[in-house]
Amino acid sequence: MATVKFFSGEQIPLEMHKVCIVQKLQLPNIERRLEAITEAGNNTFLLNNRDVFLDMLTDSGVNAMSDRQQAAMLIANDSYAGSETFTRLENKIKEIFGMELFLPAHQGRACENIISQALVSPGSIVPMNYHFTTTRSHINLNGGQVEEAITDAGLEITSTNPFKGNMDIGKLNSIIEKHGPDKIAFVRMEAGTNLIGGQPFSLENLSEVRRVCNKHGLTLVLDASLLADNLYFIKTREEKCKSMSIRDITLKLASLCDVIYFSARKLGCARGGAICTNNQEIFVKMRELVPLYEGFLTYGGMSVKEMEAITVGLDETMDEDVISQGPQFIAFMANELNKKGVPVVTPPGGLGCHVNAMKFVDHIPQNEYPAGALAAALYIVSGVRGMERGTMSEDRNPDGSETFSDMELLRLAMPRRVFTLSQVKYAIDRIVWLHENRHLIQGLTFVEEPKILRFFFGKLKPVSNWQEELVKKFQADFGDSL
Ligand SMILES: *Cc1c(COP(=O)(O)O)cnc(C)c1O
Repeated sequence: MATVKFFSGEQIPLEMHKVCIVQKLQLPNIERRLEAITEAGNNTFLLNNRDVFLDMLTDSGVNAMSDRQQAAMLIANDSYAGSETFTRLENKIKEIFGMELFLPAHQGRACENIISQALVSPGSIVPMNYHFTTTRSHINLNGGQVEEAITDAGLEITSTNPFKGNMDIGKLNSIIEKHGPDKIAFVRMEAGTNLIGGQPFSLENLSEVRRVCNKHGLTLVLDASLLADNLYFIKTREEKCKSMSIRDITLKLASLCDVIYFSARKLGCARGGAICTNNQEIFVKMRELVPLYEGFLTYGGMSVKEMEAITVGLDETMDEDVISQGPQFIAFMANELNKKGVPVVTPPGGLGCHVNAMKFVDHIPQNEYPAGALAAALYIVSGVRGMERGTMSEDRNPDGSETFSDMELLRLAMPRRVFTLSQVKYAIDRIVWLHENRHLIQGLTFVEEPKILRFFFGKLKPVSNWQEELVKKFQADFGDSL
């Protein structure tokens, strides 16, 4: 779709698919939305879907499947052992990543559990471009520590750097020097770096990381959950890769890694997870954990129907028309917001449009969760559900103090092929209104606070009656409109 030019000169993302099945949506009125967010403890994770109009919480397990994926689900083979469904998925992984050994797991974090148990021990260090919530928790549970080596550009909210997910090679070298290579469990690279706005790394950068790993005999693990977006950005932003096919880029990336794992809730547009490698020794260590935590080696906790859908989904990921849809819709949303003065992460990345809450509500201190407050406010004024990616997504330090996150982002995920452009325009319209009225938004404070991954089930309340004031202003401006 990159090749279609418009006579008007406008840049409009053009869908290279048509809609075959639809699901009805509801937009509850603003009084109900205020009630719903209150019941949910101001945590968008706790909203019921019937109260949500556009669900931009996540792209996990909610991407629209293709007709070919749905058709494949019908031929799933349910034998406990020796299932043909397993063989088809195993062969597809070999074809796409060039990796011979494959272990199934029920989702991405299950892969992280297995990899961490197999490779991390007390005192281990895991350098990475940037952490992901579940990844870091699994490494910590096994006694290891994460050290981040993201380039400085990666933490600049607005930038023109095309590869903000790159690892800083100098920082990686210092981490290795500081701890010694023996302490390093593995080096982890995350494609489409989730928590800093879905930002990609370049093929060039991964090659450099590989060279450092070779020098010190270190294992390189790739978290490929958000690889589809990263592939699209490599293909369109990295000069040397413009003439390569998506398949060739994928094989080249994979050839640089010792272990690849992914959440098939994202990569492959279905629900499941996979670990693959060519390293027999690491494979054997991980293999014994799969029947213990996941299920027998030919399904690993996944339904065979989903496995068939992953096989086709991986194949479709090698099609530029398929993987460009997410990034192009995200770029449209981010660019429109940017034009209207709303602070967003640039360049637009994958996964979703990321609003910079630190600036949007710069009057809210980090210990009152600006991104969480903005997520609650946006839901109230639009029925759009986003996700807090900021200090609420961090856990407290052992002494009870807060870990202030580098960024306070409201993530508006763009599940692939799910929303129409009018729906995206509606979301933009309400965000712009909210930005005009941002002074009305105030902070949140915890009333129920879990110790680990508190953002999933913690409950909060507003620090004042600001939400009622916001509703009043909305009603004054929009009348009886929803
Ligand atoms: C979602 C995600 C995971 C975890 O996958 P789940 O299937 O949700 O368990 C791991 N890494 C990254 C980069 C992700 O985006």
